[in-house]
This record gives sequence, C-alpha cells and structure tokens, in this order.
Amino acid sequence: MRSLLNPILPFNIGLALHNRFSNLIYLCTSITLSPNSLEYISNKPIHEIAFSIYSFLQKCTSLSCLKKAHAKTFAFGLQHDTHLQTKLAILYISFNRLDITSILFECMPNPCSYFWNIMIRAYVNEGRFRRSLELYRMMMEKGQRPDKFAFPFALKSCAGLSDMQMGKLIHQHLVCCGCSNDLFVNAALVDMYAKCGDIEAARLVFDKMAVRDLVSWTSMISGYAHNGYSTETLEFFDLMRGSGVKPNRVSILSVLLACSNLGALRKGQWLHNYVIKTGFESDILVATSIMDMYAKCGNLGLARTLFDETRGKDVVCWSAMIASYGIHGHGRQAIDLFNQMVKNGVRPNHITFTCILSACSHSRLLEEGKRYFHLMREEFGVAPKLSNYTCMVDLLGRAGQLSEAQELIETMPVEPDASIWGSLLGACRIYGNLDLAERVADRIFQLDPFHAGYHVLLSNIYAAKSRWNEVEKIRKMMAQRGSNKVQGFSLIEFDNLVHKFGVGDRSNPQSEKIYSLLDELAAPMRRLGYVPLTDFVLHDIEDEAKEVALAYHSERLAIAFGIINTSPGTTLRITKNLRICGDCHNAIKFISKIVNRVITVRDMHRFHHFEDGGCSCGDYW
Ligand code: ZN
Ligand code: ZN
Repeated sequence: MRSLLNPILPFNIGLALHNRFSNLIYLCTSITLSPNSLEYISNKPIHEIAFSIYSFLQKCTSLSCLKKAHAKTFAFGLQHDTHLQTKLAILYISFNRLDITSILFECMPNPCSYFWNIMIRAYVNEGRFRRSLELYRMMMEKGQRPDKFAFPFALKSCAGLSDMQMGKLIHQHLVCCGCSNDLFVNAALVDMYAKCGDIEAARLVFDKMAVRDLVSWTSMISGYAHNGYSTETLEFFDLMRGSGVKPNRVSILSVLLACSNLGALRKGQWLHNYVIKTGFESDILVATSIMDMYAKCGNLGLARTLFDETRGKDVVCWSAMIASYGIHGHGRQAIDLFNQMVKNGVRPNHITFTCILSACSHSRLLEEGKRYFHLMREEFGVAPKLSNYTCMVDLLGRAGQLSEAQELIETMPVEPDASIWGSLLGACRIYGNLDLAERVADRIFQLDPFHAGYHVLLSNIYAAKSRWNEVEKIRKMMAQRGSNKVQGFSLIEFDNLVHKFGVGDRSNPQSEKIYSLLDELAAPMRRLGYVPLTDFVLHDIEDEAKEVALAYHSERLAIAFGIINTSPGTTLRITKNLRICGDCHNAIKFISKIVNRVITVRDMHRFHHFEDGGCSCGDYW
C-alpha cells in the first residue's frame, strides 16, 4: 500500500474541519479507499472530481460503496459541496443511516431547503417527532421558508405528540406561505386536528378541500371513531364510498369500532360481508375487530365461530376473545380459553392478564383471579401494570375485601391514578362503607378534581344513607369546579338506524307511545313485586317524584321503543354509555318477564342478559 492511500490521511483533514463532530471521524475510520479509482480521479480538476463522485453516487447500491465515495469527498476537500453532501445524505437515509446523515447535516453551514426537508421527514419516519419539530423551528430561525414538502411532516409530528398548539402555529405558517390549497398539506392538517382531538377543526379544513384523497377521508373517519362520534363515523364511511374512494384497513377498523360502540349489529354484519368481499378478512387485526364487534353487539356465539375460523391467531386475537367472555360474565370460559391459548404456545402479555382478571371480577371468581395475578409474575414473568392492579382492586372490592384492596393500592410499586381509587370507591358503594369512601374520595379529588363520575358516585353513597346535606355539598362542589355530569344515554338499533335516548327524553317522534307503554307496565310490575329503589335518585325530593325520575331513565325509554317497534319475541339489544342503575336493573328483570322478551343491556362495564325475570350477572356488577 502506498502512503497516499493510507485511509488516515483524509480523516485527518476531516478532523481539522469537523473537530466538533467526533462521531463522524469515528464512522469514517471504517472506510477503506479503492487505490485505483482514487489515483484516477486525482489527476482531474476539482469540479470534474466532484462530478465523477456524483456520477459514482448515482450508481451506488451498497453502504460500503457509499462510504468509499464519502471518503473521497474528504480526500478532495469536497465536504462543503452542497450538491454532493445532499446526495450523500439521501443515500445514507435510504440505507437507514440517520446517524451519519444527521452529522452531514450539522456539518453543513447553509443546508438547502431540500436537505432540511429530508431531515424533518427522516426524524418523523423514525418516530422522533420532537427532534423533527426542533429542526422545523431551526429552519425558520435560519430564515429558510418551509415549503409544501416540510409542512405535512411537521404536522405529522404535532399529531404524533398531540401538540395542537404547535399544530395551529404551523397552520398559520402554511397559510402565510401560500400552501393552504395543497392536497397533501391539507390532508396532514385534517389528520393533525383529528389526532389532537379537535374534530370540528379537522372538519372545517376537510370541507374546504377541493379534492379529498383517501388519507383525508381516513383521517376524518378515524378521528370521529376515536373521539366517540360513532354515528358520524358511519355516515362518513358511507359518504366516502359514495364519492368513489375505496376504504382502506384503517377506515374499516374505525367503522368496526363505531359499530361496537353503538351496538349496531346489523351495520356490523354488513361490514363483515364487505370485508369478506374486499379481501380484508385475512388481516388478523380486522378479523379480531369483527369478532370483538360481534361480542360487543351482544352476539357472543358469532364471535366465537369467527374466532374458531381465524387462522394464525395472535395474542391480541386470543385476548380479545377472553375479554368477550369476560364482559358477558362467562368467567369459566374465559379461563378455559386462556389455558388453551397457553397450550397453543401463545405467550400472554399484560393485556391478556387484564382481560382474564376482569373476567374473574365480573364472574365473582375471587380465588381464580388471585391465582392468575400470582401466576402472571411467577410463571409467565409478566410484571403487573397499573391496569392489572386496577383489575385486582376491582376483584377484591366487589368480593367485599375492601381493606385488602386498599392495602394493594398502598403497597403496589406503581403510582395509583384516580381510576384505581375509583374502583375502590365503587366497592364502597356496593358495601355501603361511607367511612372508607370519604377517605378514598379525598385521594381521588387530589388526583382528578374535575371528574363528574366520582362526585356522582360519592353522592350516591351519601344518598343511600340519606345524608342529604352532603349530597347538596357535592352538588355545589361540582358546580364550583365546573365538572359537568356526563349525560346518560341509551342506544337501540332498529331499521338500520341507531336510535338514541336521554333521560326523560321526548324528542323521539314515538315519545307519546313510549311513555304510555312505560306507564302501562307499572301496574303489572308492582303486582309481581317490583319496588322502586329510590336510593338511586340524587336529590332530596318526594318519593313519588323520585319514582317518576327513575321510570324514565334512558334504557327504559329505549326498551319501550324496542317493544313497540319489533315483533313479539324479538331480542332487544340496548347499549348504555354509563353504568346501569340498580333500580333499572331491577325493573328490566320484571319487564323481561311481563313482555316475554330477552333484553340485553351493555353498560359501560359489562353485559346484562335479562330473561324471564332474572339477569345473567346474578346482580353482581
Ligand atoms: Zn336507571
Ligand atoms: Zn345484570
């Protein structure tokens, strides 16, 4: 080897120029030079050498070949040639060497906007959203105008970080830069607003778009679905298909989620057929979501059939089926399935354990729950997360082991949140333990002072003990804190539409019929032994008024609507956004007997199958 070819030489030059960037020097020590080509090009003038290296880069197909060319730029002092360095950067990125590219970038005194865009995009693709936004800011500071290629990626970072403030700022920039009519920029804007939870802002941008691509339709649909606008999700899906855009997997998953939330079985079944026709059935996540939809719409049998037919089941699929048995109160089947899963060689994760523990909780399987909580760590090596502890607290609390539940929260190695204390507060309500409830509520309101649900729960505990002064105090506290009570509503699917009822709602065209049916049912219910449980009415009002308030809870309105509109014997399926109250639970048992119907109510926790005067939950929910 001749001394000229000693690879140390060019890197000494590199050292002098880039002594700030020790990484680059380290990287370059692994580069070897080809003696022949170096000698050949060294006889040419510098611009020709640059051109030769550039041509060489055009044909570059391997990382080692790229490194050789890179070394040559050092050897000939071309490390500030913008053209060459940008080309090198693009190639390094294509080999996924963001580390080297970022050093090249930092060595460049004035990178062109093209190079800035490469970097912003590369960080987004790596999921490093903060860094990408940092570069976006630096680019602006250095006086570079961001263009239509920079905005979509900067917005994507905001979406990834749920940083709407920055997203809005970029929205202003892009308007100033005249990019507000660009399809890709707008699609990214819609996506950013939807992912940050401002679906109205997303809709405003979407409505102004002259052309809408699959990305913007999908962003709207998935934004609606994940922000709880289930009806709008279904509407938008139909609109998208109507406009000739073919749905992708993300939009299908979003619509399945909406069907599950609404309990819209017919729409879900239609979607299942659509998935089969369009070939998405082989996608394991889509198959799992369909299964989950059937279970959440009350048809556990169909869910299981589909589960058995699904090939290549992964841990998500198994866990979803275990969870389905759980919410329907079939704890034993959930356990059987868990054992079968382990036998099939699928390793459970902490989500699987959340499913199995909550299945035990819904089915009053205390000992089994404790056993799985133990096995989780000891046999499967899965460290319990907060969700697993919450299930255990729920299980212990429902079984009346309130002090064990409290001790678990106080000794667990993770920080408790409001929801785990909330589980214990729920148990205090079941067992009427006011003393503990007050202490637990203190902890909850320190962590989450605005949550209306916990205020209502505590207030129910006071109401059950006729402590009306405290009930009134909580009402005032809620008003002061501005925590609005979540409005309860119930849904029922009929004639391909989902009908929604609020408490005492009279907006349905059939309201008169609905209310008179409920009034007619009152007498036979009383004859069979129904006594209104007025504890569940918050305010200190006369008993008769309390009964009236209870009789028109949203689930009862939905049931009456179902009885009026479907033929005798048809199963009624109701979905409720909150927990079903004790009085409605009791009343629906009597209604199921009188009208001789199976009535399924899914509340925020689980399913209740009412039949012939009883409920599948065994009054344990
Ligand atoms: Zn009720
Ligand atoms: Zn029940």
